[in-house]
Amino acid sequence: MKCEAFRDLLPLHAGGDLEPHELKAVDAHLATCVFCRLKLDEFRATKSLFNRLAMTGFMPPVAGIFSGVPKPPARKTRKKPEK
Ligand SMILES: [Zn+2]
Repeated sequence: MKCEAFRDLLPLHAGGDLEPHELKAVDAHLATCVFCRLKLDEFRATKSLFNRLAMTGFMPPVAGIFSGVPKPPARKTRKKPEK
């Protein structure tokens, strides 16, 4: 299988949130793919950094990084005052 199929699963793998059958598939791919192993290491490093920050009570504003890309703020259309 190609890396793209596993790209979304790597952050879940780092967080231990994969279903057993997914874990098996990802681990099988990781055994053959250096690139995805490096990616997983990145996710794990980022996650442990967040864990350490959480222990200090400091939560950075980018805490939503693991729950997908945040939506851009809704743009308010400014109404002109009616006369
Ligand atoms: Zn791969």
